[in-house]
Amino acid sequence: MKTEILVVGAGFSGAVVAERLAHHGFDVVVVDKRPHIGGNAYDKIDRHGVLIHPYGPHIFHTNSSRVASYLSQFTQWRPYEHRVLAKVGNQLVPIPINIDTVNRLYGLQHTEQTIQEFYDSVREPRATLSTSEDVVLNAVGRDLYEKFFRGYTRKHWGLDPSDLSASVAARIPTRTNRDDRYFTDTFQNMPLHGYTAMFERMLDHRNIRVDLEFDFLKLRSGVRVRHIVYTGPIDAFFDHCYGALPYRSLEFKHLHLADAPRYQAVGTVNYPNDHDYTRITEFKHLTGQAHSGTSIVMEYPRAEGDPYYPIPRPANEALFKQYEALALRERHVSFVGRLAQYRYYNMDQCVGAALKSAETIIDKLGRARSAAPEGTAPLVVPGMQFMPAALQQIVANQK
Ligand code: FAD
Ligand code: UDP
Repeated sequence: MKTEILVVGAGFSGAVVAERLAHHGFDVVVVDKRPHIGGNAYDKIDRHGVLIHPYGPHIFHTNSSRVASYLSQFTQWRPYEHRVLAKVGNQLVPIPINIDTVNRLYGLQHTEQTIQEFYDSVREPRATLSTSEDVVLNAVGRDLYEKFFRGYTRKHWGLDPSDLSASVAARIPTRTNRDDRYFTDTFQNMPLHGYTAMFERMLDHRNIRVDLEFDFLKLRSGVRVRHIVYTGPIDAFFDHCYGALPYRSLEFKHLHLADAPRYQAVGTVNYPNDHDYTRITEFKHLTGQAHSGTSIVMEYPRAEGDPYYPIPRPANEALFKQYEALALRERHVSFVGRLAQYRYYNMDQCVGAALKSAETIIDKLGRARSAAPEGTAPLVVPGMQFMPAALQQIVANQK
């Protein structure tokens, strides 16, 4: 393969960097080992005609006007505010926990004036919030922790909340009002014609070529490029030389219900304590599509399978740091995205990180290009070393 820039992965991270580099005049090839673009945000029409998210529900939300206006070049939007109910006992109650959650569960009549007194009466204050258990007990105490968080977290991650970093449970706030939206971001919209259509527009540039079903790690010995943007799992790039970095996987069970226009009252229902799946999502809520039937997905957490979630806990962070040290020595490779940076990024955070990364690359390659007089050989092209340089070093040291 010959190109100036190779982008590995056609998800949010890869597509944003590719679009930016192409816009700045670089020739870019984007490869993905899957048969489609969009990464985990890929959507498609199922065989019943309903727009679904094959890799689980993706709801776009951001507080970043930069990210929102960047993506708005490639899509129109449909306003959508996600709501989630949790099945606790025989009730379906709002999550994040708010005044109505507490009142309905316990038969109380709290108001915005009194709800904090309730939380104060049940919470178990913690001096430091190191784990997800600390976060929830500190906010709402043991009963609500066990009703909403303990079972869900153990099911989703295969770990107790006391073994997960605080940042995981901290994604879910505790509300002192009646706001039952899952997110409170200033920008909450879904791409009007879906994510895949948005990705198609991002990648539709004369300087971009897309090669699907191309596994970079299997084919990298034939790659000769000036710079690589890698958005796959960082440990795989280095042949797992320090051991496998844990990622959590999911199995998705998609169902279509014919002649049933509605399955559930809100986009997602969480099942913290019942069933092997964590949640059920009904896509028509998210997309606003009109259809005589409806399509839903159930998510079954798995230890094995495609890497979907980095697992935030100190031991994993330490292992990631070892790989990150190798990555920093790869002068001609940028590691970008949820898998390559081992960060529990939402889509908007991937876009933000990718925009930043693209700027760095343009700056670096742009400077190098202008420093080289016309007609001199490109900087890196021949024999870019794969195995990566840092890995070669380790192997050499071991000999
Ligand atoms: P990915 O989308 O994983 O893309 C990486 C791509 O690299 C993949 O397509 C992969 O095939 C490719 N690749 C890997 N290795 C190779 C290789 N060797 N050769 C070629 N290609 C390779 N975020 C939100 O903001 N809102 C949500 O509601 C939301 N819901 C989610 C639900 C689920 C179930 C999951 C798993 C994630 C969710 N996210 C959500 C997070 C969102 O999916 C990510 O932030 C985002 O899609 C990550 O983009 P990425 O490009 O970094 O990675
Ligand atoms: N969580 C929980 N119960 C819930 C919802 C979330 O325990 O009803 C915890 C769980 O650990 C989950 C984390 O909070 O993994 C983050 O939830 P989020 O909905 O943000 O997860 P994602 O959509 O990324 O899977």
